[in-house]
Amino acid sequence: MPGKRTCFCLAALLTAICAAVPAMAQESEAQEESELQTDTAAWTGAESESETEPKFVVAIDPGHQGSNVDMSGTEPLGPGSSEMKAKAATGTQGRFTGVPEYELDLTISLLLRDELEERGYEVVMTREDNDTAISNVERAQLAYEQGGDIFLRIHANGLDDASVSGALAMVPSPQNPYVGSLAEESYALADCVLNAYCEKAGFESRGVQYYDDMTGINWSKLPVMILEMGFMTNESDDLRMADPNVQTLMAEGIADGVDAYFLQRGKME
Ligand SMILES: [Zn+2]
Repeated sequence: MPGKRTCFCLAALLTAICAAVPAMAQESEAQEESELQTDTAAWTGAESESETEPKFVVAIDPGHQGSNVDMSGTEPLGPGSSEMKAKAATGTQGRFTGVPEYELDLTISLLLRDELEERGYEVVMTREDNDTAISNVERAQLAYEQGGDIFLRIHANGLDDASVSGALAMVPSPQNPYVGSLAEESYALADCVLNAYCEKAGFESRGVQYYDDMTGINWSKLPVMILEMGFMTNESDDLRMADPNVQTLMAEGIADGVDAYFLQRGKME
């Protein structure tokens, strides 16, 4: 009888050990993996495809909409403002290519969305076609409500003077009564994006400029910028912005700037 008893205990012990060893191995592997994720997740959000790591969310707003969409109603210039502005404007047009600005803005925004997603960002779009009737206030609200970390507004410029060329960025000034508190972060974002864009796509930089009369900026709750990619009224800018090869570089350049911004922000924290 004692022999039988020992035998039973040994068997039980062996079973227990056999069950415990793989469980322990799995646990330490899982631990290692989660440590690795914490390292790589950092704040670029890029590289790893793990679903558990935090991703930065980029809200992209392709400027304007098709000219068939009626946006003539008005909305307040900023929260609490009695000054009213049109819900959205029509935008400019390529003087040499004939391409409407809303089309170019959407083309580049969609390329940018794909480029950012490839780099591991989550992207929110205010419109993905030319028929969406969304006002400037609604664009800013959507960017925030959809969890955006930054709000990138994509536009192209136009002027009577065809000799004026180059890209520029618009941000709120520190004196902006609605979003002055976002001025510093917005400037940092715009500086990164404008520089990387001009370098990659070969546009002259006209610098980061303060604009406090933009509804879509004044209603933002995120660091916000408008990138004016170039002048559609300048021959070289207009032709280059319509060139698919240049368009790829434009999207990559903007994405480089987004990378640079989050890298810089991560170092400061
Ligand atoms: Zn525009």
